[in-house]
Order: sequence, then C-alpha cells, then structure tokens
Amino acid sequence: MSDIKDILKESGFRFNKQFGQNFITDVNLLGAMVSDAGITGEDTVIEIGPGAGTLTRSIANVAKKVISFEIDRNLEPILKRTLSDHGNAEVIFKDFQKVSDAELRSILDGGEYKVVANLPYYITTPLVMRFLESEYKPSSVTVMVQKEVAERFIATEKSDNYGVISLAIALEGDAKLTRIVSRNLFYPVPNVDSAIVNIEIRDKGIEDKEDIKKLVKAAFSMRRKTLVNNLTHTLGLTREDVESALLAIGKDVRERGETLSLYEYVALKDALSSKICRNK
Ligand code: SAM
Repeated sequence: MSDIKDILKESGFRFNKQFGQNFITDVNLLGAMVSDAGITGEDTVIEIGPGAGTLTRSIANVAKKVISFEIDRNLEPILKRTLSDHGNAEVIFKDFQKVSDAELRSILDGGEYKVVANLPYYITTPLVMRFLESEYKPSSVTVMVQKEVAERFIATEKSDNYGVISLAIALEGDAKLTRIVSRNLFYPVPNVDSAIVNIEIRDKGIEDKEDIKKLVKAAFSMRRKTLVNNLTHTLGLTREDVESALLAIGKDVRERGETLSLYEYVALKDALSSKICRNK
C-alpha cells in the first residue's frame, strides 16, 4: 500500500478544515492505538471519522468487525481503496452527531462494542461524554485528542487540570493517558500535539449522578473561591449547611473545589442531599 499522503494527493482530495481532518501518517502509531484500546478478535468497534481509513484498517486487522461513521462523502473512493482487503470493515457516511442511540443499537444488534477514534477536535468532549452517559454505553472509549484536553480528561484532585470534565469522566469509568503523540505524525500537521486516552467504562455503584454533577459544576464555578462560597452562591445553600456538610465528611471549611476527590464529592452530595433536592 502506498503512503497515505500519496494516495490523498493522487486522488486530488481536498482537506476540509471544518471537519477537523488531520490524518495519522505513522503506521506504528496506528498499531499502538489499537493495542492501547485492548482490541481483540472478539470485539466489535465503532470508529468516528475514518478519514482515509488507515486507523480503520489497523482496527480491522485485529477486531471481529469495525463500523465507521464518516461525515465527508468525498472520502468514499479513498476509503474503498484502503479498505478493499478488509471485509470486516464497514463505512457509513453520516454525521455521527445525528446518529441516535436507538440507531446505533439497531446497527449493532444491541451487542457489546468498543469505541476507537482519532476524533475531530471540534466535537471531542461532547462525543466522549455522549458515549459515557449514553443508555447504550460501549465497554471502553479510546480516543486521540488534543494533549491539553487529554490532561483534563485524566486529571485527579489537586492538579491544575482537574475540573468538571475530569469528574464527569471519573463518574463513569477509569481514564488513563496511554501516550503523547507529536503533531508531526499527522497530515496536514496541526497546531497542537495530541495524546491517546483510554477510558474503561464501569459501574462504580454511584447514585444520584445528576446531583453530583450539579454540585461539581457549582464547586468549580469560580476557581479561586472556596467551596463554601461557590456552593452558597450558585446553589443557594446556606453557609451553615455547606460548612457542616464539609466538616461531616472530614474536610476543612476553607477547601476549594479542586481539592475534593470523586468519592469526597459523593460523600458531600450525601451530606447535603436533602438541601440539594430542596433547591432543585
Ligand atoms: N481516522 C483518521 C485518521 O486517524 O487518520 C482521520 C481522523 S480526522 C482527525 C477526523 C475525521 O472525522 C475526518 O475524516 C472527518 O471528516 C471526520 N468527521 C468530522 N466530523 C465528523 C462527524 N460529525 N461525524 C463523522 N465523521 C466526522
């Protein structure tokens, strides 16, 4: 198979910036991503944005089946060529944002699936959250994202990158950054470096997730303020309620949002539960 740059040039493909088209050129990286995703011959994989089909091909080399959604029909002749030897790879030309959970369930016959994608940057976070919070969740999500976004996804308490998105992901699974990827391994070369994040989705037995998310959002609403200030200001709780809840979970009343772990937020939600409900 010729180099992907040559195929794209030969076919006169015109990159569409609007769709976040930066294709992986490094063959070793493609294999590494499939291995980071833990794909085996038992797996059915959903890929968003196959582009020229190079990652799709690497997934298809290992997985039972890969179904890819591509928004740009201009890629059809290139994808036909790249995937011609891979009968277990199927491409559906559709904006994935318009694919409902019910449609996905019907395409997959309600079976288990994993997500692997080099995501278009403009929809990274909403797409990842959609899979994590879906009624029809995959068992894992492995994505190439902008390095700064990856650092926010995996951050834990007390780090600068810790925030609402780190906690929203931690609520649904365990995220790890498996490798940093230089911008020079993409064509065209983007302005930022990337990283691969693997999220193993698991039920942590946490209840009232919506209340926890509401609490977390309020806790980070003004970063330099204390939790007491943020929660009283945003959720309309009294200072006494928040202070006694913090003391009850063994925290100081001067704590800030970024110092509490996921499970401390769960405990805080329990300590405040009647008050949060009252203010819904
Ligand atoms: N997977 C390829 C690779 O790794 O080389 C291409 C990745 S490129 C960063 C993102 C791809 O997603 C592009 O092919 C783009 O056309 C496609 N895309 C962008 N928005 C999309 C959407 N809403 N639904 C499906 N595909 C989309």
